[in-house]
Amino acid sequence: SVVDDPTSDSVHQLVEHFPLCMQHLYQNLCENLHLKHFARIQFNLFLKGIGLTVDEALAFWKKSFSNIDDAKFQKDYAYNIRHNYGAEGKRQDYKPLNCMSIITKQRPNTGQIHGCPFREFSPTNLRSKLVQMGVRNEEHIREILSLTDREHYQVACTKYFEITKGLLDDNDENMIETIEHPNEYLKASISLKK
Ligand code: SF4
Repeated sequence: SVVDDPTSDSVHQLVEHFPLCMQHLYQNLCENLHLKHFARIQFNLFLKGIGLTVDEALAFWKKSFSNIDDAKFQKDYAYNIRHNYGAEGKRQDYKPLNCMSIITKQRPNTGQIHGCPFREFSPTNLRSKLVQMGVRNEEHIREILSLTDREHYQVACTKYFEITKGLLDDNDENMIETIEHPNEYLKASISLKK
């Protein structure tokens, strides 16, 4: 299945389960047919966490960077993608980044889009993004903005999960633990559908 044996083609079927950070990277990738270095690492390691093999990840990036010819792709991108998988260099097996790393390390400069949207977006941009993702209730929006304002980024992400999955309407048993990892978010989202 898409979940048990994900391929380069099944990534887009899982997008509805992505946390906001990965939704944002994926949307940018689809629009620009490109992602910059740290965005690529963040998303590639997420794909690894989903269970894509290194060959499926390479196929995914090759297809996504559709205006880059094969020679350039091999020269400028394939090495790093393989490197994240521990298939090059020191063969270190890099782990998919958890929220704490994404929030605190390699924070994005102007023109870079990686990182955690709950931390990096201005309140205005975060509001628009939330509305775009279907959060329309003003109270919900304010609650998330208030959490990010108090630097509770992961709690804001967890709240976003609960709001967008309709868990708040039910009883407390449906509440989830604070999100610690984008791949954990994905799994929690998929398991709700089962
Ligand atoms: Fe992504 Fe974690 Fe930020 Fe949520 S809290 S958007 S999963 S980095």
